[in-house]
Amino acid sequence: MANDDLLKLPAVATNVLLDCKKCGSERYHKVLFHSTPSSAKVECEVCKSKKTYKVTKPKAGGKKATKRKKSVVTDASMWKSLEEEIGTKDAAPYNMREAFEPSTAIEHKKFGVGFVTAATTNRIEVQFQDSHRTLVHNHGN
Ligand SMILES: [Zn+2]
Repeated sequence: MANDDLLKLPAVATNVLLDCKKCGSERYHKVLFHSTPSSAKVECEVCKSKKTYKVTKPKAGGKKATKRKKSVVTDASMWKSLEEEIGTKDAAPYNMREAFEPSTAIEHKKFGVGFVTAATTNRIEVQFQDSHRTLVHNHGN
């Protein structure tokens, strides 16, 4: 049996309980007609607003949560991947008079070990374990 067989639209003139944006709560919607094999036009019983009701196919193995997780980049995870990439062995003590290159490790007295992610003439972007900061460098040169 194909998955498609599980996708059934409610029959025309029946009521389905759906979230109505206009009412701001769940309302019975009357099925007016089927617009496609997987969608129908429905009307809110209370406010009469119309919307499209869709039967969505459950994707095999597709979980929304995993997708969302990937896009969340925390300071800790950024730091961890930079640590793997650059390493902390050669971390240079931070001093605003020194010039630092991107993709190098620095050691800050207060913030600990950080990785330079970008550098301009006198500013560096540094990823620390719990924060991302802009620091002064190459100062007075
Ligand atoms: Zn409504």
